[in-house]
Formats: sequence, structure tokens, C-alpha cells
Amino acid sequence: MFSIVIPIYNEEDNIVKLSDSILNSLPNLKYEILFINDGSTDNSEEIIEKLTNNHTNIHLINLRRNYGQTAAMQAGFDHSKGDIVIPMDGDLQNDPRDIPLLLNKINEGYDVVSGWRKDRLDKKFTRVIPSKIANHLISKISGLPLHDYGCTLKAYKKEVLNEIKLYGEMHRFIPIYASWEGAKVTEIPVRHHARIAGKTKYGLSRIPKVILDILVIRFFDKSLDRPIHLFGKFGLFMFFLAFVLALLALYLKIFMNTSFILTPLPLLVVFFTMSGLLCIFIGLLAEIQSRIYFESINRPSYLIKQTHKTKKE
Ligand code: UDP
Ligand code: MG
Repeated sequence: MFSIVIPIYNEEDNIVKLSDSILNSLPNLKYEILFINDGSTDNSEEIIEKLTNNHTNIHLINLRRNYGQTAAMQAGFDHSKGDIVIPMDGDLQNDPRDIPLLLNKINEGYDVVSGWRKDRLDKKFTRVIPSKIANHLISKISGLPLHDYGCTLKAYKKEVLNEIKLYGEMHRFIPIYASWEGAKVTEIPVRHHARIAGKTKYGLSRIPKVILDILVIRFFDKSLDRPIHLFGKFGLFMFFLAFVLALLALYLKIFMNTSFILTPLPLLVVFFTMSGLLCIFIGLLAEIQSRIYFESINRPSYLIKQTHKTKKE
């Protein structure tokens, strides 16, 4: 059995069409549909409620307020009962006819199958082009080359999701976390349709958020279990700068007879020393936090794939 997870925020004109198209395109398969109503202010809730009365495999989870797409998806993952979980958008932009294709790939042995909206039908300048750049950057930084992190339509084995907690707007990066944990990830092209009813919830304001998310990914990849290496490096570099500038100031004073107060050098020396100290202390704090983090999730800093033992006779 698999679970389809659909976050819904004000999609009243799309829900019935979407559930019909799912039900029609997946005959003879065993699955549940979880609609997560993310604090919609329109009639989405009533509409989904009606559907749950008519179909035993459609469920509604009502969140108390609007938490954002990532949290809504996490709620869906937490309540899903299938061994495979397939999130998709509630606005008819993803096509349920692609679901069997995703399932096939999972059956071939992949843990994560990412949809790639090859012919994406969104606004070119505010969405498609920035997303191309972001996908390129994220692929480079994470080491997992995917064309379309932002496509909601993906398929995950449940075990993979159990290992991952989603924060902020991180649902786009599940494949990255999964691949770091050793999951087999692949992608297939999926269909994409223009939004007909309702409004998109995202725009250009996404860009700074994505840049910051990329920073976080970078940090989590390289430095989560040894933050002092990152902060400390900056700190030491600042000390080095301070030292070189101090030497320069002394040189000018002794050999060129230039008074300290005639150059900005002493000020810079103090500035870089302070910055270096701060970096190192922040690094130490981050060390403590990293330890608390690993203890609190009760997880070692490694994951074991398999252990080989000699069999007893
Ligand atoms: N969504 C949500 N909570 C939010 C914003 C969006 O549950 O705070 C849902 C929305 O209803 C849709 C999906 O997330 O089903 C994707 O949103 P949208 O279509 O606006 O994004 P786009 O396709 O423009 O990237
Ligand atoms: Mg959409």
C-alpha cells in the first residue's frame, strides 16, 4: 500500500477535480489519500470532509493554522500508513498519471524517486529561471545532481522519511538528506500543468530564502558534527590578518617613523582580533550544541549499513 500526501492551502476549486483524477488514474491499486488542510480560509475543509464521507481511503488532517507547506507535508508523512509515500501539490499542477511511473522506479530498488518538471508551466522570470539556477547550485553544493528539487511530486520509501525531520521550508531537500544517509536516489521526468484555479503561494520572495537554505544545507553537510572546524577556521584567519597588520604597523613605526595613529592599522588589528575571538567562541558554543543535538536524537554520528559476523557453527 502507498500513501498520497497532499498539502492544501486555499485550493477549494481544485480539490474535487484532483481527487477524481487520482481515483480515475489509479484503478486496482491499494492506496490512501491524505489531505492536509494547512489552515485554509476558504471552503477547502468542507469540501475535503465531503470526500472523506464518500471514500474510505481519503482522509483529512486539519492543522490548527497555516504552518506552511513543509510542516503540512511532515504532518502527512507522520500520519501516513503506506510503505511508500508520494507527496503531490493540491493545485492540479502535478499529474497523478505519473504515480505508477514513480512506483515502478521504487520497485526497481530506488529509495527516493524525484519528479522532474521537464516542461514546467509557471511564470518564466519569477519562477522557472530562478529555480533553474537554484537547482544547479543545490546540486553542486549537495553533491546530489537533480534537475528539480522543487517538484513536490516525488516518491519515498517510508523508512527513508522516518530518519528525517523537516524544518523551515526544507521539504525540497529530503532527497539530499536521504542520499547523505545512503539512500538510492533517482529522478524521472513528470508532467506539469499550468495552474488554472487558485493562486500560487510563492513568488520572488523565495529567492533569499533559498539562498539561506543552501547555506544551511552546506553547513549540515560539512560541519554539523564538527562546527569548530568551520568557525575556528574563520577565527584563525582573522587572527592571522590581525597579526600581519600588527607587523605592518610596527614596521611602519620603526622603519618609516609613521606614528600608529596615522594609519587605520591599529584599529584593524583590534577589529580582527575581536572578530577572531568571537568566531572561536561561537564555534565552541556550536560544538556544545552539536553534542546536545546528537545526544537528543539519540543517534551516533554515523549510520551502519550492515555488519558482518562470522556465523557460529
Ligand atoms: N501549500 C500549503 N501551505 C502553504 C502554501 C502552500 O499547504 O502555506 C500547498 C498548496 O495548497 C499547494 C502546494 O502547497 O497544494 C504548492 O503550493 P503552490 O501551488 O502555491 O506552489 P507552486 O506550485 O506555485 O510552487
Ligand atoms: Mg502549484
